[in-house]
Amino acid sequence: MAELLDAQSLRATTRLLVMQPTAFCNINCDYCYLPHRDDRAVMSLETVSRAAGFIFGAELNAPDFTVVWHAGEPLVVSPQWYRQAIAAVERAAPPGLTVPHAIQTNGMLIDDTWCDFFLETHMRVGVSLDGTARLHDARRKTRAGKGTHAQVMHGIDHLRRRGVPFHIICVVGKATLDAAEELMDFFEAEDIRHVGFNVEEIEGAVESSTLEGEGSAAAFRRFFSRTSERARAAVRSILIREREDLLACLQSPAFGYFGYNSQNAPFGIVTVATGGDLFTFSPELAGLENETYGDFCIGNLADATPASILASPAFRAMWREIDAGVSRCKENCAYFNLCMGGAPVNKLFENKSFDSTETMFCRLSHQAVADVVLAEIEREIATAPSRPNSP
Ligand code: SF4
Repeated sequence: MAELLDAQSLRATTRLLVMQPTAFCNINCDYCYLPHRDDRAVMSLETVSRAAGFIFGAELNAPDFTVVWHAGEPLVVSPQWYRQAIAAVERAAPPGLTVPHAIQTNGMLIDDTWCDFFLETHMRVGVSLDGTARLHDARRKTRAGKGTHAQVMHGIDHLRRRGVPFHIICVVGKATLDAAEELMDFFEAEDIRHVGFNVEEIEGAVESSTLEGEGSAAAFRRFFSRTSERARAAVRSILIREREDLLACLQSPAFGYFGYNSQNAPFGIVTVATGGDLFTFSPELAGLENETYGDFCIGNLADATPASILASPAFRAMWREIDAGVSRCKENCAYFNLCMGGAPVNKLFENKSFDSTETMFCRLSHQAVADVVLAEIEREIATAPSRPNSP
């Protein structure tokens, strides 16, 4: 049964506020799940103020709270808009709290003006890049169908030249699995130091993935094992997000006591769409639709409060099923303490129910990664010089 919640119990639970400054995207990747990427509407600054007031007014912000600008191409909105938006967030934040901001971009529009802005605001910058031109251009295309690799690398050159720290998000499809050496040669040659691997998912209008089918988990395990090995052996080592996250989880004093992750805990992630509609659980739910849950919206910033959302039928229906799915995972899955019950959006779109367990996404992103990293640790322990016995 879904855990009973009141507004007080939500204090300090929100780790990410995902803000969609616009749903519009200037390119057209063939695995993109965003349905409104032709919509050029821009979020009003009043909506930004309300979103910040919603979080800080109810003290929802967790100690590691971050605002992420994403869910369309955020750089089609001007740096001046972001300066005002960041100021609006600062005005609503409690005195003394510095709010970190992050942005996830396709990299096409990065220039010196954006670099000035990133440096001035200490923005954490993530760039979507699927590796070499061969791998990247096969999936990440302009609206006219041309590859975008050269333009993204031009943007990355700006970041490097201006000393803006950044990380890469690399979508892994079937073609990537056979290209671990090509990928890591490229990242090493380009001095890319932080990489996150997103598996090509099934969600919304994207009803299939090149990673479906027999043998993908084994192939992904080989891929991740080799990329992890190369990353650690690189002259300037490369951090792979999935490996780092798993090690952080193992080293946490709370390991084994986590009941939920950010995507399946209510308000762990709060997503605000351009027009002020509110979403929680997996941020990808914003903009998608489903027969049972409609548009997944749990309210609008115009009038919603945490208490009104907790009482709403839309939230309660989702939470009951998501919580039941997490409980099933806890009962049945040996990886639960590392994954904490998976991602609701993948369960719904792969298994047709939030109240379910294993997905292709979790087999690759959690189970295969855990198998590889735990095997690495075991090998390191087995080959470590033995210590003399204590007296
Ligand atoms: S790895 Fe999959 S089955 Fe296991 S806890 Fe995570 S989502 Fe559930």
